Amino acid sequence: MFFSDPVKKLRPWAALHARTAYKPVTREGHGPDRGSRFNGSPFLADGEAWPACTVCAKPMPLFLQLDLDELPGAHAGRFGSGLLQLFYCVGDCEFEGPDAWAPFDHKTKTVRVVPADAAGAIAAPRDVGLEAKPQAIVDWRPHSECCNSEEAEQYGIAVDYERERLGHKTRFRCDALKIDTGWISQEDEDRLNEQVFNPSGGDKLGGWPQWIQSLEYPNCPECGARMDLVFQIDSEDHVPFMFGDVGTGHITQCPTHKHVVTFGWACT
Ligand SMILES: [Zn+2]
Ligand SMILES: [Zn+2]
Repeated sequence: MFFSDPVKKLRPWAALHARTAYKPVTREGHGPDRGSRFNGSPFLADGEAWPACTVCAKPMPLFLQLDLDELPGAHAGRFGSGLLQLFYCVGDCEFEGPDAWAPFDHKTKTVRVVPADAAGAIAAPRDVGLEAKPQAIVDWRPHSECCNSEEAEQYGIAVDYERERLGHKTRFRCDALKIDTGWISQEDEDRLNEQVFNPSGGDKLGGWPQWIQSLEYPNCPECGARMDLVFQIDSEDHVPFMFGDVGTGHITQCPTHKHVVTFGWACT
């Protein structure tokens, strides 16, 4: 029935918690030295070596360089200033001890912010063990999205489950907004996950993380605060690399200490 549509019922909640995420629009090539890009060569400060893996000692491919001073709309200035860079070892190092998937285990990856005023230049191309064409980010496409239903429980949504002989039913409530979907079918729950609890997959700036496991926000080692999503990097979107079995990775940053950045990923 129209009036009991759970998607419609949850719209007031979604309106409060929607965030703008931006999908990158890319063009093959490096773009400006300090520009945002996937793959290719990084901007390096004068005298600085290309970051190498501490396990195999090989130079690591650049996965992402993001010019924090040139971010669009809702994210302009939000993540501080400078060039955020992620380098990641694509050798077999992740099987030899270090937890490459884990935030703050930086033996086989480097995540850092190069100051905006650092003197330097783009590095000469070199073989880093990954066939990947540089993709300059030339524009951003915004869209609105909300968090998944598990994360929504931290924002006032209560979820009840009832297992029945003929399939399961779920019920979503938000007492503060006087929302109650009543028991809904799997089909309606699927629609909710498409239209309300819908963090997007793929590479994106900001928005809500598409978690593969449960919520995995790291905490800042300096102040303990929960870190914020800056950028989601998905398996084989702009970077031709697979994290585990089609995993999804997240670059996160302390909301206060903008130099504290890290990267973690998870797969099913
Ligand atoms: Zn390595
Ligand atoms: Zn902090």
